[in-house]
Amino acid sequence: MAKKKKHKAKAKKYVYDFGKKTDGSSDMKALLGGKGANLAEMARIGLPVPPGFTITTEVCTYFYDNKQKYPKVLEEQVRNSVALIEEQLGKKLGDLDKPLLLSVRSGARDSMPGMMDTILNLGLSDETVEALAETSGNARFAWDCYRRFIQMYGDVVMGVQKLPDEDHDPFESVIDDLKKELFPKAKGEIDDTRLTADHMKELVSRFKALVKKRAGHDFPTCPWEQLWGSVGAVFGSWMNDRATVYRQKYDIPAEWGTAVNVQAMVFGNTGVKSGSGVGFTRDPATGEKVLYGEYLIDAQGEDVVAGVRTPDPVAGLKQVLPKAFKDLVAIQKQLEKHFTEMQDFEFTIEDDKLYMLQTRNGKRTGVAAVRIANEMVKEKLIDWKTAITRVPADQLDQVLSPVFDTAAVKKAVKLCKGLPAGPGAASGRICLNADRAVDAAKNGPVLLTRVETSPEDLRGMIAAAGILTSRGGVSSHAALVARQMGKVCVCGAADLEVNYKARTVKVAGKTFKEGDYLSINGTTGEVFAGELKTAPSEIVKVLVEKKLDPKKSRDFNYFSQLMQWCEKVTKLSVRTNADSPSQVATAIAFGATGIGLCRTEHMFFEGNRIDAMRELIMFAGEYAEYKAEVAELVENNSQADLSDLNTKYKIPKAHFESALKKLLPHQRRDFLGMFKALDGRPATIRLLDPPLHEFLPHDAASQRDLAKKLGVSLASIKKRVADLHEFNPMLGHRGCRLGISYPEVTEMQARAIFEAAVQVKEKGIEVTPELMVPLVGFSNELELQVEVIHRVAKEVFAAKGSKVKYLVGTMIEIPRAALTADEIAKTAQFFSFGTNDLTQTALGMSRDDSGSFLPNYIELDILSQNPFASIDQSGVGQLMEIAVKKGKQGRRGIKLGICGEHGGEPDSVKFCHKIGLNYVSCSPYRVPTARLAAAQAAVERK
Ligand code: PEP
Ligand code: MG
Repeated sequence: MAKKKKHKAKAKKYVYDFGKKTDGSSDMKALLGGKGANLAEMARIGLPVPPGFTITTEVCTYFYDNKQKYPKVLEEQVRNSVALIEEQLGKKLGDLDKPLLLSVRSGARDSMPGMMDTILNLGLSDETVEALAETSGNARFAWDCYRRFIQMYGDVVMGVQKLPDEDHDPFESVIDDLKKELFPKAKGEIDDTRLTADHMKELVSRFKALVKKRAGHDFPTCPWEQLWGSVGAVFGSWMNDRATVYRQKYDIPAEWGTAVNVQAMVFGNTGVKSGSGVGFTRDPATGEKVLYGEYLIDAQGEDVVAGVRTPDPVAGLKQVLPKAFKDLVAIQKQLEKHFTEMQDFEFTIEDDKLYMLQTRNGKRTGVAAVRIANEMVKEKLIDWKTAITRVPADQLDQVLSPVFDTAAVKKAVKLCKGLPAGPGAASGRICLNADRAVDAAKNGPVLLTRVETSPEDLRGMIAAAGILTSRGGVSSHAALVARQMGKVCVCGAADLEVNYKARTVKVAGKTFKEGDYLSINGTTGEVFAGELKTAPSEIVKVLVEKKLDPKKSRDFNYFSQLMQWCEKVTKLSVRTNADSPSQVATAIAFGATGIGLCRTEHMFFEGNRIDAMRELIMFAGEYAEYKAEVAELVENNSQADLSDLNTKYKIPKAHFESALKKLLPHQRRDFLGMFKALDGRPATIRLLDPPLHEFLPHDAASQRDLAKKLGVSLASIKKRVADLHEFNPMLGHRGCRLGISYPEVTEMQARAIFEAAVQVKEKGIEVTPELMVPLVGFSNELELQVEVIHRVAKEVFAAKGSKVKYLVGTMIEIPRAALTADEIAKTAQFFSFGTNDLTQTALGMSRDDSGSFLPNYIELDILSQNPFASIDQSGVGQLMEIAVKKGKQGRRGIKLGICGEHGGEPDSVKFCHKIGLNYVSCSPYRVPTARLAAAQAAVERK
């Protein structure tokens, strides 16, 4: 018998080292998280990274799948990796001679700034703090580290946090109280550097008492207990409320999990030759190629981002610590070259020696993204196709967002200046608390105004039009989050005195109450009193208003170059949803290739033409009765009574026919204007769609007014409104069902379209109308309407002696149409997906009423996104795929597009590219976003 070879299965690797020995690299983000992978990469290319290790994201998954327990082998692997750090540095965890201190940080695959927990200075206790004081020769530093550790650990691991009735972090309140006791006469902010070693000791003792009181037990002294407590807290923070909200907003799947990075501490708080900072290789607000960022001397990294002290611009480091600054400049250049992307990094200087603690691709504003993509191509760091992928499509509308009107700024009362942290212009009502901001935002724009923001304020920040803080620098929480969300933000406006209790803001001798208006300019940092008028961006000025010479606008030229690159690669064209010549002109200026949806009913509301429409609707019921009776006579072959019928229905018939006659020239004029603006581009024009009651007046005064205008009784108006009431109007008498009941309306609209088209053609302008029948579910519904359209076309062309090319197609917006698309395509020359109604009908969710339950559905993760904003790809998307396949079976080369709101949403646009549509259509200001998303889809899928 062969001897069985006994070999021990190799334990799964859950811990990856970096430092002298490096196991990971930057392409291992899924396993090591972004921070861990890039720490490994920096160590690999020889940058000064303090040694450490990463516990993988798989452990996070295990932790949640196994009742918050770890894999058995983890403890041993962690011990070995701690030993490796100890060996490299000649220090030991918990040692009373040379204690090793550690940091413990989260690190998800995609960065989630400030959303999860961090512990610094781990390993300190009443004993080791003395050893640290001794070895460093700096007692103040040692006790400062200790009080920081208790503060962080107490908050994150032991849950000592702000209570619902507190406006301030309890530890910060202890610090403020002590400062007030020590410096009773001091005015304004008292800098931490004024606190001595003894003051820090006092803080430690007060902090420990606070922890004991709030948590119910003593602060732990064993460093291993501290380490595992911290690791557990970081994994636990993956599911905390703010991380969950963040993941929902940025579509980060909960399954990804976070990694945990444990790293030897380096100290920026050992004195004046030390400091901490954050930097960007380019300005993240404007994109300018400058070393950008800020630092604090004698401080740890958290001080810079927490906004507790206002840091100095990083350029100033050149004077203060020239050697470290020189190294930083060289390293940031190396980083950008290595990653070929703008980097956002964290560094610490300990006694004049520079250490790198993190690097990642930097978040930037839309404006900066466009500029950086252009300049990196010029610098030959990337090619133009990569440049297309470097601008997040949903951020592109930031470059079109308004700025303050210059005349309004001149007249405005400038109150103070803070740091420009998120560009753009915002006016809104002051709100000092995030929850109140969420509520107030329902009634108009709010400015979330705070001393500083913290991750708990996330919901308020999402709801606010702009964010204003009195403390903190351009890398503070407020600034980072605002930039990422594309929110206007001014931070560190030190002259603002925010009083949470009184709910007031005092500045420049004035007091503003919560609810009063302020305006902020996130590009300059200025804060103004009251509500200011905004003005369009340079790109809008060049393209839409044509009031700025394109040569004079760098922003425009970069935008235009990006759009040209998109054009080279894109497969999908982008049309627009527009109902007026000016909307068409705007969309064309942004690169639209035609109209994908003209909702003709919008035209009925203009000027006094609504009167004609109302007249039509008021008498449409009786007119329908008249037609039914005529049909009966015809069936019975009885000629005699027709004149009686004409007498009986004389009035309603006259009104109905005269209303149509009045509407025809209005419609013709509208189409004429649009065809001219289109200048040869195609136009999909949809026939009347909404239920008729939408056109009638519902309030008493307007009903009285209409009765007077039509010479009928108020009671008859009220009766008609009541008759038209439907329980489910969205599923009622609308869409092609109207055209089938009243083919005269279809006829009038078709006539207006063809007459306008012929007229435009005679002027030498090409025109290709595409008539679109809404809400078709049965092929014979479409056939009936198409018959009318072809008959009218023939009549108009014969009368005018001129013809135009035209198409007739339908919307695919109810599931039956998608499922029977092969039959429908025999009559339809094109399909346009009406994904608003298709979502509504496929999901059985009212598009107008889903607000009452959808937010909860998203919160509960039943849906990851709002399906009315981004296509529900597995449900509605499947119907679309079926319709595309069957539509092509029914008609070879059938033209396919989308005109629901999803046509301007990047993920949906990419989906449309994937399933092979010819075009998407969206509102004019979304056209650039859709063009970029379409080009990205083409680049990414090659
Ligand atoms: C749609 O249903 O997607 C559509 C474009 O039509 P409307 O929004 O006008 O119903
Ligand atoms: Mg619709």
